[in-house]
Amino acid sequence: MEVENRYVAIRHHVEGSPSVDDFEVKSAPVRWTPESGEVLVKNMYLSIDPYQLNRMKRQSASHHSVDVILPGERIGSTGVGEVVASACPEYEVGDVVAGVLAWEEYTLFRPSPAVLMVKVDATSGFPLSYQVGVLGTSGMTAYGGLFEVGKPQKGEKVFVSAASGSVGSLVGQFAKLAGCYVVGCAGTQAKVDMLKDKLGFDDAFNYKDEPDLKSALKKYFPDGIDIYFENVGGEMLNAALANMNTYGRVAVCGVIAEYTDPGKRASPDFLEIIYKRITLRGFFAYDFMAKFHEFMGIIGDWIREGKVQAVEDISEGLESVPSAFVALYRGQNVGKTLVKLA
Ligand code: NAP
Repeated sequence: MEVENRYVAIRHHVEGSPSVDDFEVKSAPVRWTPESGEVLVKNMYLSIDPYQLNRMKRQSASHHSVDVILPGERIGSTGVGEVVASACPEYEVGDVVAGVLAWEEYTLFRPSPAVLMVKVDATSGFPLSYQVGVLGTSGMTAYGGLFEVGKPQKGEKVFVSAASGSVGSLVGQFAKLAGCYVVGCAGTQAKVDMLKDKLGFDDAFNYKDEPDLKSALKKYFPDGIDIYFENVGGEMLNAALANMNTYGRVAVCGVIAEYTDPGKRASPDFLEIIYKRITLRGFFAYDFMAKFHEFMGIIGDWIREGKVQAVEDISEGLESVPSAFVALYRGQNVGKTLVKLA
């Protein structure tokens, strides 16, 4: 069986803020044979994630854990798709799978313990798109980062940056369920309103309206911050550290402001960290892989009970992948960014 596969590639390494001109849609045949031991998937939803930008650079610390993306090559990404041909007994034509696919129409994979792929339970009643967001990597990142790294206690004060995004919007809702006081920041008034009116944050503010982030955080946290869920980096991290309480925890999930501009790198005051005994811990979603099903069971129940809302930003067609990706760095997305294909 042979299908023509269209895929998105970078034209060249991307070092600063990405633009749609950095990308192109290419085409190549994909061949599957019954002897191959492979599974051919027709992709339905593709995940669009900020970390991909670091993979597109010539050099990045992220290359220690995730492969560099080379110009002209396929770009691996999580997604959801339907099996259209299978040479493996554990997958049948018509099965829906979620895991590592690519920014393309068809993906071939060879099952192995090293390949992240789960069969989606078609009877769960959840939209398939959730498998890439709230019931996929974003959910795992938010749940693991908050509960395993942040370790919230009832009544603690939690600050979440990029709070209207895929991970941040979940972290804030989870922290409320843990009995915490939660404030988020985002880059537009509409996002701020959503955090307070729809997602149940105690308070929220537009960081772009705040000339002095340290003072802004002092206003929102007069008694200090116990947990900072860090998605942004740069100046925001400096300001959060200045407002942390003794034994505060910083769950370092991402530093998106630094992905496009290394000159914005945070310069933490280490005396602040020493004397307040603050813990800063970086983590990676896949650190929690062993607990994936446990976490997703809990999050799934919360969604069914109406305690957690999944916010999604879905565009259509493979051609929209570059613009959806670029939108992440311009604050133009709300919630989980996805591209719907089939
Ligand atoms: P997202 O929050 O849905 O989208 C990115 C958001 O970041 C934008 O909507 C924008 O919202 C904000 N932003 C963009 N540029 C910014 C800047 N220069 N300064 C401040 N805010 C900026 O993306 P996500 O997928 O949920 O990821 C959020 C963070 O978590 C990223 O740093 C990502 O790399 C990280 N992450 C880490 C892991 C892990 O395993 N450690 C897994 C998933 C994600 P505003 O309107 O607020 O500006």
